[in-house]
Amino acid sequence: MNRRNFLKTGMLGAMIAASPISISALDEATRKASPSGRLNLSFRPYELQLKHAFNLARSRRTTTPGVQVQIEYDGIIGYGEASMPPYLGENVASVTEFLSKLDLGQFTDPFRIEDIHEYMESVAPNNRAAKASVDIALHDLTGKIMGQPWYKIWGLNPERTPNTSFTISYDSDPAEMKKKIEETAPFKVVKVKMGVGHDKETVEALRRYTDVPICVDANQGWNDRNKALEMCHWLAERNCLFVEQPMDKAAIDDTAWLRERSPLPIIADEFLQRLPDVRRAAQAYDGINIKLMKSTGMHEAYQMATLARALGMKVMLGCMTETSCAVSAAAQLAPLADWADLDGNLLIANDIFDGMKIVDGKVTLCDRPGIGVIPV
Ligand code: MG
Repeated sequence: MNRRNFLKTGMLGAMIAASPISISALDEATRKASPSGRLNLSFRPYELQLKHAFNLARSRRTTTPGVQVQIEYDGIIGYGEASMPPYLGENVASVTEFLSKLDLGQFTDPFRIEDIHEYMESVAPNNRAAKASVDIALHDLTGKIMGQPWYKIWGLNPERTPNTSFTISYDSDPAEMKKKIEETAPFKVVKVKMGVGHDKETVEALRRYTDVPICVDANQGWNDRNKALEMCHWLAERNCLFVEQPMDKAAIDDTAWLRERSPLPIIADEFLQRLPDVRRAAQAYDGINIKLMKSTGMHEAYQMATLARALGMKVMLGCMTETSCAVSAAAQLAPLADWADLDGNLLIANDIFDGMKIVDGKVTLCDRPGIGVIPV
């Protein structure tokens, strides 16, 4: 097949795959008119409702603010999303302000993802979730134009995706705790948030009902390195896989000390955001947790995953509470990950996309082009 025919059939495949999506679905209030053959950005706030209140070491909440994004190009729509848990410092106002400043109509080629990232950096620093929303929509769009999902474009084997963990939080009512544990039954790995005062109780409750491996996320909640080490040994004896962000992100020396002695791998989450942080993380951590809302999207997340692997580090793929849009975008990278924590869409009650599925506990990619989602 020559290149022109390839592009034509790719386009056709993309049009068919995208056919349930109509441009009328665009939010007209925020839609920016632009001539054909140019990138047309639109966006709207969309608040995510959590099924259960989220109890972290340093906060509690029942919703997550979000912004849904579309980029239209010659009748094909790419979907993107920004999710803004409060601790990351972005919100609906900051994301919509940033997106309003963008003039994507100056770009006539959606494949210039690198140029568009450079342009976004020139508009304003930070704003990582806002940039991720544009990046995800561009990947969805360009994947649809090529008629292929991104894991294939990257040359990744979809059989090599890891199981995802499913997050459970402590409940002092044993009946409620039992109910929460029963909800984890379809998953092969459970993630426990620690640093909230019931660290051992949560693991002990789980171990009364199941022996599935446990991922531990302390969310910077342990402030004494000797206690942290003691916990690492205790957890290692109870089939835990690793400890994510045990101590404050600024406590680099203590974390390096802990890594030297811990029987479990120590993974950086809050410590790291973007590509230049990967080398810094290598000084004190065994691995990194990559999230699209930190990395400004898929473009840099892919670079982070390949750099981490080149440095001999473990790669974990995480997410925020998000719809299946951003979770499916992250899932395209799953074959590069040792561990996945891609349950963000399962934790919300108002998902508006169909996308990546968890089948028998495993991240399961589909053949749909782009990031593999359709609106529902
Ligand atoms: Mg974490």
